[in-house]
Amino acid sequence: MMHKLSDWLPTTNKEVKLRGWEALDVILFSGDAYVDHPAFGAAVVGRILESYGLRVAIVPQPSVNDNLQDFTKLGKPTMFFAVTGGCMDPMVSNYTASKKKRDKDAYTPNGDKGFRPDYATTVYSTILKEKFPDVPVLIGGIEASLRRVTHYDYWSNTLKPTILEDSKADMLVYGMGEQPLREIVTLMQRGVPFSSLKTINQTAVLVDQSEKIPKNKNWEDVEIHAHETCLADKKLFASNFKTIEQESNKLHANRIIQQVYNKTLIINPPFETMTEAEIDASFDLPYTRLPHPKYNKRGPIPAYEMIKFSINIHRGCFGGCSFCTISAHQGKFIASRSKESILEEVDKVANMPDFKGYLSDIGGPSANMYKMKGKVQEICDKCVAPSCISPVICHNLDTSHKPLTEIYQEVDKHPKIKKSFIGSGIRYDMLVPEFNKNADVKELDDYTEEVITKHVSGRLKVAPEHTSDNVLKLMRKPSFTYFHKFKQRFDKINLRKKLNLQLIPYFISSHPACELEDMANLAAETKDMGFQLEQVQGFTPTPMTVATVIYYSGYHPYTLKKMNTPKTKKEKDEQHRFFFWYKRENQAWIKKTLTEVGRIDLLKKLISKNNTWTKRKKVKNTFNDAVPKKYSKQKKYSKRK
Ligand code: SF4
Repeated sequence: MMHKLSDWLPTTNKEVKLRGWEALDVILFSGDAYVDHPAFGAAVVGRILESYGLRVAIVPQPSVNDNLQDFTKLGKPTMFFAVTGGCMDPMVSNYTASKKKRDKDAYTPNGDKGFRPDYATTVYSTILKEKFPDVPVLIGGIEASLRRVTHYDYWSNTLKPTILEDSKADMLVYGMGEQPLREIVTLMQRGVPFSSLKTINQTAVLVDQSEKIPKNKNWEDVEIHAHETCLADKKLFASNFKTIEQESNKLHANRIIQQVYNKTLIINPPFETMTEAEIDASFDLPYTRLPHPKYNKRGPIPAYEMIKFSINIHRGCFGGCSFCTISAHQGKFIASRSKESILEEVDKVANMPDFKGYLSDIGGPSANMYKMKGKVQEICDKCVAPSCISPVICHNLDTSHKPLTEIYQEVDKHPKIKKSFIGSGIRYDMLVPEFNKNADVKELDDYTEEVITKHVSGRLKVAPEHTSDNVLKLMRKPSFTYFHKFKQRFDKINLRKKLNLQLIPYFISSHPACELEDMANLAAETKDMGFQLEQVQGFTPTPMTVATVIYYSGYHPYTLKKMNTPKTKKEKDEQHRFFFWYKRENQAWIKKTLTEVGRIDLLKKLISKNNTWTKRKKVKNTFNDAVPKKYSKQKKYSKRK
């Protein structure tokens, strides 16, 4: 289908005129390039506001290095400015785990760097407040959402207050924006001034201490330690996190109150999980599904290339992994799209001119949580557990994989689909009957076989993350025993069907509670299984995770017990080195280190002439045989779950 320029939300005065608009109601500033696709937050927000009849424009990646004309060129909106740092926290986009500047930005044409300032939300919002002090600024997206309360910022190595304080913004939307935006717009359309909107679910505001906190009869308040108290006492900062995490994950949560210098932060409870109709409506908005034509000559946008042939079928994650921010942003309850809505989108993708028949993903934050929820809702209503599957799978969780298997099969019936892959991370532990004790084993087997035989592109990537029980417990991940069990099942199907697939495990080093010996054990155990690891990363402390709170404070927020985290460059480098035990340059060091700590047993396993790994035949990667070369290149951008 040929598009005309006015099919995209306008980004310039010329495009505003094309729509025949004399004024704008909302102007949205984003740290990402504008890709009009449901996987890109700024497009979703823009399209939602548009669906309420508002005149919306987007200013993607405004320049902050010149005369700031990008901030003034579209004038003043009648309702508010909306600001987001983009789909990733700008500090994660701009820096590696070792704080080095990245040389690529996946959300910018050609992967070019330098189009997104550090702390973009604060930078954009501050400029707007200076230029237009009387226009409200609403912030949202990952950066605002995960920095909504006192948080540790790894890149500046400081404890920062709510981003509302630094950004001077008037309101913050956390989590996914559809529901709070609907409420904000509805009330404003009824004539309620922005400054009176203080009790909308899933928003936060910062008010003067002298101001009376507005009442809401449905909410109880819970006050956490003040920002200044957190600055003075790391243990009290850590204890705040338990309340924040529990309230973020409850169906009927309390309102969180925190004193920040001479102001009061009010974080209103989240909305209930979106209904199927609500989430369908969001995905069914009239996206062009393409980057704005202004980028045509600037090169492809890597993040778009990664997802342009993929389908997101649900939101939320009940895994609660300690290093992950998904549940803090999307919640632990799953909002699933209807089969009809998913299939309609598949049809749209299948009819894209450059689609060659290969869907790169049918997934979500975790691939296999579609339609999963509590068997008895009333039990979930009162639940405060941060994870439904750790340390064991909750007896109330319905983990039926049948609806998901059916979706995959329905998608594959489309005449233009040659193959559909599952690129999102699969929670392999839920597929192991010894771990998922209440599940219907046949359903698990059917799903596992369906995935392995039909939806894997040469390599199935899963994330045990570690082998040490101590570390895994803290990560809220199951024992590595279950990875062994899953591998047995994988190998059996792989052999029986002669698939020649590879199982690729992901691991993290330098996580809280991880000692050097844990890494040596990890290296020895995975070597013994025949793996030569490649998908590994060092722990990055991003805002609003349990692991980050432990990293900074040295205390576990739930037990308040002291915990160690490797922090120095030397400690982190040494931990990481064990992943690469097979490299010649690491062997003398490994020998010395393990001899010093008296672990000759591990040394023998790792550095022996009878190298188990080299004895095994390397499994041929069939991925490039299955899909065109161009597509296979896109896999390097695949998401790290
Ligand atoms: S009761 Fe079980 S299924 Fe429901 S939210 Fe709690 S842990 Fe999850």
